[in-house]
Amino acid sequence: MTSSPERPLLFLDVDGPLIPFGSSAGQKEVAAASSTTVDQGNPLLARLDPGIGARLIALGCQLVWATTWMEEASEVIAPRIGLPRLPVLEWPDADAGGTPRGLHWKTRPMVEWAAGRPFIWVDDEISAMDRLWVDASHPGPSLLHQVEPTKGLSGADFCALAGWLDAQGHPTSRAACTQGMTERRRPYGGP
Ligand SMILES: [Mg+2]
Repeated sequence: MTSSPERPLLFLDVDGPLIPFGSSAGQKEVAAASSTTVDQGNPLLARLDPGIGARLIALGCQLVWATTWMEEASEVIAPRIGLPRLPVLEWPDADAGGTPRGLHWKTRPMVEWAAGRPFIWVDDEISAMDRLWVDASHPGPSLLHQVEPTKGLSGADFCALAGWLDAQGHPTSRAACTQGMTERRRPYGGP
């Protein structure tokens, strides 16, 4: 890699942050659909905000998928929101110790990927255990940003991310925070 080594990473979840849902029943439905039905007719894809990719790019981070959609995130999600194909966080290798109890499966692989680089994790499933693990095992700056899954990534979320990046010395494009969100997505079960 010859690009700037200190450019922060941003690990991005799909279900919740990009595809909002509004109830535990809805969460199950989303999870089932994302793992079994990724064809063109998946109705959940209508919840994607086509402008959200540009805002993510405006943050100036190196984006990485961190989602059970795996490679299908680049094939199905990315083209609908204006993102290029992105690298994908791999499921942890059981031979390397698997995932300790209470820790999200993404947490250790993210810390290993970052290898000390600053990183952001955007997800709706961040626990206290994840925060403790990252604090103890990641020597660089990190932001574990919890997204409200009924709303998905909002303007306030983007401003929080941009504010953290600015504080870390990685100023973002103003489009990351000041550009109005298109609140076109309806909550799960909405009219
Ligand atoms: Mg999620």
